[in-house]
Amino acid sequence: MAHNTNYRQLVFTVKDRCRVCYTCVRECPVKAIKIINGQAEVLSERCIGCGNCVRVCRQEAKVYLRLTDEVSELLKSGQRTAACLAPSFPAEFTEIKDYRILVGMVKKLGFELVTEVAFGADMVSVAYKKLYHQQDSKGIINSDCPAIVYYVEHYLPEMVDNLAPLVSPMVASSRFLKKKYGDDLQIVFIGPCVAKKAESDEIDYALTFTELREMFRQHRIKPDEDLACDFDPPFAGKGAIFPVSHGLLQNMDVEADITKGNVIVAEGRINVKDALTEFSQGTLNARHLELLCCEGCIMGPGMSEEGKKYMRRSCISNYVTQKLEDFDQEQWKANMELAKSIDLSTSFVQMDRRTPIPSSNDIAEILKKMGKNDPSDFLDCGACGYDTCVEHAIAIVQGLAETEMCLPYTIEKLHQSIDKVNLSNQELASAREALKQSEKLAHMGQLSAGIAHELNNPLGVITLYSNLLLDEIADDTTKTDLKLIVEQAERCRKIVGGLLNFARKNQVRLTQIHLEKFVSRSIQSIICPENITIKLQVDLDDPYVFFDADQMMQVLTNLEKNAVEAMPEGGEITLSISEKGEDVIIAISDQGIGISPENMEKVFTPFFTTKEVGKGTGLGLPLCYGIVKMHKGKIDVKSNNEPEKGPTGTTFTIRLPRNPA
Ligand code: ADP
Ligand code: MG
Repeated sequence: MAHNTNYRQLVFTVKDRCRVCYTCVRECPVKAIKIINGQAEVLSERCIGCGNCVRVCRQEAKVYLRLTDEVSELLKSGQRTAACLAPSFPAEFTEIKDYRILVGMVKKLGFELVTEVAFGADMVSVAYKKLYHQQDSKGIINSDCPAIVYYVEHYLPEMVDNLAPLVSPMVASSRFLKKKYGDDLQIVFIGPCVAKKAESDEIDYALTFTELREMFRQHRIKPDEDLACDFDPPFAGKGAIFPVSHGLLQNMDVEADITKGNVIVAEGRINVKDALTEFSQGTLNARHLELLCCEGCIMGPGMSEEGKKYMRRSCISNYVTQKLEDFDQEQWKANMELAKSIDLSTSFVQMDRRTPIPSSNDIAEILKKMGKNDPSDFLDCGACGYDTCVEHAIAIVQGLAETEMCLPYTIEKLHQSIDKVNLSNQELASAREALKQSEKLAHMGQLSAGIAHELNNPLGVITLYSNLLLDEIADDTTKTDLKLIVEQAERCRKIVGGLLNFARKNQVRLTQIHLEKFVSRSIQSIICPENITIKLQVDLDDPYVFFDADQMMQVLTNLEKNAVEAMPEGGEITLSISEKGEDVIIAISDQGIGISPENMEKVFTPFFTTKEVGKGTGLGLPLCYGIVKMHKGKIDVKSNNEPEKGPTGTTFTIRLPRNPA
């Protein structure tokens, strides 16, 4: 059979419509569909033109080569042209009650002759019958389905010799028509098949029934009784039954051998591949394999979508029964006689297109990448379009597929991404919180600087003069009053001092500090009641750090003072210094009253204090916070104020880079 070399690519992807559901990958018997970057693409060099993908794609993202324009041109050119209707037409045009009306419609398109390919089937059946009874022990695969022929030639080339060396009914018809009507006759085949378009150079064009319907629409041709006319000769006999599975066999009178297992019938991509594989392995002792890539031609991709298989079968049977009722046996015999002189032989060539199987290492690597490490991970769920995880991995190595097609793997990856997003959300929230805090502190800083500056001098004057007065006055009541003034002025000075510190914290002057000595000094500088002991734990390899000594001293004393103030009943304060990487960590733990959960957020806010009037200013922790930030560090607090939940107390932890510069 001379392949029609004009049409390299029969099936195309409409990229915009493809939703990458992998249904086409699953349905493609030769894995000719490549998924790269989430786009499906038909590889013409692998495609056998079966049209399965066109049939199954719900998005209409797979289309096949359309030739209606070319055929219209041909008909316009005035060349004598014959339309050869495939025997499956009664299953397609079910709405047209009399087949003669359909014939008339086709004629109206401009065809000089409208003939039945079923006669070609009659011819081919005779040849098959002869072959079946003549053949040696080697089994024969029917070669009337072009998709099966391509499959064997390309993917089972060692079995090419098993293909029946006979042309298809389509080519047989063409040879007959040319003999009967002249070699100049142009041939347009019309059927349910996409692969037919590239089957043979002996056919000028092959259209599908869907394309024929398109042409009817374009030329506004409707079923009309006035159009009715019969087929042009040769009229077909039982060959009309061909398109249903077993059709060829019914014509060959070998039904009995089916039961004996001498004849194997398989249809549909899975059964066909299974049958061929078993046959090639020599496990089937069959003399004849009748294979149809679709579930019979009546389910071909060139048929309208909606039809039901068994309904279509009965349409064919009805047509054949009706036809055989007023069958002109004599005329048929005469034509068959003429057909005898026609050579129906052909030959097939090996064209190996199998891709080498990748090394097991490469496959294992891909499987690992998809998280498939042991047998329980091999779900073989088929969601990717491949039957097994290993087949999918092989396709990935071959560049036909990608890891994302694995649903369990992608879901797992998605979960991980969700976790990551959640984590970054949390981080974002805490960063936002910290930002809010520093903004607040920055405003406070500006305000404080102003107030402190204005109040500092008058306060100095008040303190100075009230002290002078205190020295000069002897009257006791006035003295008590003056003492109160001095005391309260002192308190104001403290607040103002705090505010000034707070405002000054915009710069740090780093000096080298021996941390252990520094912390010991801070402990000595606070007033510690007798019922409180302060313990220092040091775990440092390198004792030196670079801090602003004044500022950091304030941080430590503030925290220590808070700890002391939180322990009216006494107890122990633990100061620990340790290191982690480039950072040092200073933790101050007390056994005090703790901080209530609702106050935890507020403790770093300026002027927040729970202490009684005169005792707290609420500036200690904001100051610490600011200084630690200026040193590029972090300050955290953990606390428990509920005795039911365990020992109460608070721990402030400061983490600072050894050298913030
Ligand atoms: P002040 O000490 O003047 O009240 P701070 O800013 O130093 O201001 O502290 C703010 C508040 O945080 C305190 O009033 C107290 O409620 C709480 N606090 C700080 N440190 C501790 C601690 N070690 N134990 C319990 N509460 C604390
Ligand atoms: Mg304080």
